[in-house]
This record gives sequence, C-alpha cells and structure tokens, in this order.
Amino acid sequence: MDSQDCVLLKYGELSLKGRNRGRFERELLRNVQVALAGVPGAVQIERRDSVLVLLPGTAARQELVERARHLMGISVVQPAVRVRKTPGAAADAAVELLKDHAGPQRFAVRARRRDKDFALTSEQLAAEVGERVGNELGWPVDLDDPQVEISVEVDRHEVFVSVERHRGQGGLPVGCSGRGLVLLSGGFDSPVAAYRAMRRGLRCEFIHFTGAPLTGPSSTYKAYAHVRQLDRFQGRSRLHVVPIGAAQQELARAGAGRLQTIAHRRLMIRTAEALARRLGAQALITGDSLGQVASQTLSNLTTIDQAATLPLLRPLLTWDKQEIIDEARRIGTAEISPLPDEDCCSLLTPPHPATHTTDAELTELEARIDLGTLIPAVLAKARTFTPPHAA
Ligand code: ATP
Ligand code: MG
Repeated sequence: MDSQDCVLLKYGELSLKGRNRGRFERELLRNVQVALAGVPGAVQIERRDSVLVLLPGTAARQELVERARHLMGISVVQPAVRVRKTPGAAADAAVELLKDHAGPQRFAVRARRRDKDFALTSEQLAAEVGERVGNELGWPVDLDDPQVEISVEVDRHEVFVSVERHRGQGGLPVGCSGRGLVLLSGGFDSPVAAYRAMRRGLRCEFIHFTGAPLTGPSSTYKAYAHVRQLDRFQGRSRLHVVPIGAAQQELARAGAGRLQTIAHRRLMIRTAEALARRLGAQALITGDSLGQVASQTLSNLTTIDQAATLPLLRPLLTWDKQEIIDEARRIGTAEISPLPDEDCCSLLTPPHPATHTTDAELTELEARIDLGTLIPAVLAKARTFTPPHAA
C-alpha cells in the first residue's frame, strides 16, 4: 500500500451501548455522506471501529475537515496518512509529515493499537518511530511537554500517522433522537436552543413567524441567515415562514389586553404544532430561559405549555444570558442576532403585560375566536425555504 492522505472521524467510545450504537453509526454515516455530497472530487468512506476513514480522492482535504468539524456525533477530526502495517512505514510517514515543519521542536510519539495482534506493543512502536524522527531530523524528545505530538494508530488493515487533530462537536448524530420543530425568532436564544437540540441528536426543522402584513420582511432575512449558519451542523435544513400579524390583530380585537403576549405565544405554539404533525416532528423547541422577560415567568411558561400537546423542549431554560451569548459566538449566530428587525412579538404589546396567567383565563379569551379555522388559515400562508449552508 502506498501512503495515502485521509481524514479520520472519531466518535465517542463513551456511552454507546447495544442497539443505540447501531443507530448512532447508521445516522452518522448518512450525515457524513450528505455533508460530503457537495464537495467536488470523489470521497470514499471506510468504516473501522469507532472511526470513519475519509479517503479524499481529488477533494480538498481542508474542506472535508471543515465540514466534518461541524457534524454532530464526531468527537475528533484528524487529518492523517495511511500506510502499510509495519513500524518502518509508520516511521517513514512520521518523518515525511514533520520534515516541512519549522524545527527543531520538542516532540512525543503517542502510539495505540486498535489491533492487538500487531508485532510490537504500543511502547515499542512509539520508541521505534521516535528514534527515527530523532535521528533523521535531530529533534529532541519531550514526553511531558511536547510542542508536536505524533500519533501512530495501528488499525486492522493499516497504520494511521498524524500530527494534527481538531475537536469535533461531540454529542449524537442528528437524527438519532428523532425530529423536532424549532420556533426560531431573531434573537440570541432560539438559534442556540436549536444547536443544543441538534447536538442531542434531534433533526431540526425551523418555523419563523413574521408580523406580516403589519411588518416587512426583515425578520425573515434574519431567520434565513440563522438557518444557514445552523445548517452546517445538520444539512438539509428547512425554514417555514408563517405570517401571523392578522391573527394577532384578531386576538387584540377579541379583547386580549394584558394577555395579548401570552395569547400570541399560545397561538404560535398551536400553529407550530399543526405544522410539526404534518412534518412528522415529535417535539417543539424554543429558546425560552426562565425569568428572562415577562413572558418567561414560571407561571407564563406553564400557561404556554398548557396549549401544547407535543412535548415543548426548552434547552436553555436554566441558562444565563451571558452563557447563551457566549455559545452563540462559538456557533456563529451571534453576529446575526443583533441586526435590527421588525419582530412580530413587539406588535400590539400591552403596556403592562401579565406576569401571572392561568390556562382558564386564556381558554376563555380563545373561546371568542375560532381557532379551528384560524390556525389552518395561518398555516396555509406558510412558505418553505431551504437555505444552503454558509461556507
Ligand atoms: P430569542 O432570543 O430566541 O429571539 P426572545 O428573547 O426574543 O428569544 P421571546 O420573544 O420571549 O424571546 O420568545 C421566546 C421564544 O419563543 C423564542 O426563543 C422562540 O423560540 C419563540 N419565538 C419568539 N418569537 C418568535 C417568532 N417570531 N417566530 C418563531 N418563534 C418565536
Ligand atoms: Mg429570549
């Protein structure tokens, strides 16, 4: 076997047991295939134990690394060289990889065997490769505090040698846990909530409500931009945009008064739920964080829950705003969130919104409107977009 460039995708050996493991691996493989479909140059994927090996063909390896780093369920992304299963071939590859590095640098070789039948122990292999690097490049060994780490991994059919590794997203492959519908507004919270849900294996669809015809398209552009960023983590994302302004006016006309905000939230939940059922989504996800604003008191969150029949997941319930913003920066949605927009939630807001509400008083208000007609009419105006992911 000639030496061959590749990229190793490693997934957690942790906590993967029994039948879950099969599902995890199937979803991961499928997600990797989808993520790589857009990369020019044939990419071949081989499976090993807890590792996928990408053989890039003519595709740019950097592009593969970038894509894989965003996929959920992968803990380490490691560009490597694959060579024959002999200590000599591993040592050649290590020297070859390092000779273009500025040297001399303190180095360490870390060897491990996924195939325990190899002729040398890990220690012997590390020593042999280390000796060659020392002799040929004149670099000093430093096992405690190396500047460069050379990893040598013995696998079933080959040895992988590498000097570079990147942290992946971790978590579970998207799809493993089912499908959810994210209520996506323009702020910091809901994109982060979506990210956390995806990272626990939920494939996410997105619904965004606009105040149209009372507001312009600015909030739709923001939602679209958010979905483009979030799509890097799952691929094939869909954004459903639903104008709800006229229905908000109906609530106001029915005398919602101080209940307007919560009545509007319940209407969004009910409409989202109707869409979720159509999409086969098993849960709704919001960016709610306890106590952040008046609509997020425990009392109001409870009243909103009571309008839902699907589980309403709130990944950020106990997060502080600063924690949410830090995470938004990390996942690339923080630049979008502060952009100005016309948000449906700030339409028709009462001067003193209720911080304590009950299901009974909301139900009484809602009885003055024909929800059975209103919700399908609102949903009929939905438009679906499929934003391509951001480069
Ligand atoms: P975010 O920072 O996510 O925009 P927010 O602070 O604006 O949240 P609220 O207006 O209290 O939040 O809404 C709480 C949650 O309700 C949001 O995180 C989101 O899940 C959902 N939501 C609010 N407005 C919309 C909207 N226009 N379209 C879809 N979902 C919405
Ligand atoms: Mg918020």
